[in-house]
Amino acid sequence: MELWFTEKHTDYAKFSFKVKKHLFSEKSPFQQVDILDTYEFGKVLTLDGLVMVTEKDEFIYHDMITHVAMATNPEIKKVLVIGGGDGGTVRELTRYKSIEHIDMVEIDEMVVKASREYLPITAGKLDDERVNLYFEDGIKFVEDKENVYDLIIVDSTDPIGPGEGLFTTEFYKNCYKALTENGILVNQNESPYYERDAKAMIRATKKIKKIFPIAEVYQYHMPTYPSGHWLFGFGSKKLHPIKDFNPDKWNSLGIKTKYYNTDIHVGAFALPTYVREMIEGETE
Ligand code: SAM
Repeated sequence: MELWFTEKHTDYAKFSFKVKKHLFSEKSPFQQVDILDTYEFGKVLTLDGLVMVTEKDEFIYHDMITHVAMATNPEIKKVLVIGGGDGGTVRELTRYKSIEHIDMVEIDEMVVKASREYLPITAGKLDDERVNLYFEDGIKFVEDKENVYDLIIVDSTDPIGPGEGLFTTEFYKNCYKALTENGILVNQNESPYYERDAKAMIRATKKIKKIFPIAEVYQYHMPTYPSGHWLFGFGSKKLHPIKDFNPDKWNSLGIKTKYYNTDIHVGAFALPTYVREMIEGETE
């Protein structure tokens, strides 16, 4: 008997792949958590039936959500990760000796538990002595923080369910307040391709542009996400991701990456015209 996983991207487009074994399946107070062993993508974490992490392409997402900001500001010492329950973002951050403290605020402890058991590739560095895990709502966690973090990474699900509040103006304003004077916010910024994702991207980008003096969007290729064309938001109080970026300084760190490099750091901000027009407000 063949077992296939299918994710609905729109009412008219689906994405399917063949499953070897259904390794984990439990409903947490927040979402359905599943881990599948698959032929094409290795182990896959899904939440409420949506692909979050796969062994085959997680390196793309976790490289691009961390190294662009870290290369823009080599002085980053204190980091807040909101979401990121699979541990991949924290794994990449722990590669920087300059980072002194990482708070990871993940609302669903079950995601961390399942990732520790089945996704050591991403969850392997959650026990780093600099990492402090909080199983709380990230929305509330930032409310009372002021001038604390040099970098906030919102590694969230989509703006539905527990993740919805991580795409609001109030939340972004609280992140701004929680950041230090050279603070940077990187957020999971959805995609320009399918209508629902594009609407969420435009809304989030417009909100961040109203709050941060520097607000850019950069792209990466993510085969297992809807359309494969995905974006991160980059909000910054002072440092520009390209004007203030010193590639030689980052290269001198000798951090070996599989996707990020200092050329793609710059290239990722060169957006297709239709995406630029969406962001600048001409089209939705
Ligand atoms: N890479 C994935 C993506 O781009 O869709 C997301 C990685 S991670 C699995 C997303 C995490 O955000 C989930 O573990 C989810 O539980 C967490 N999350 C959602 N809403 C949250 C909230 N309000 N506070 C903290 N964590 C939240």
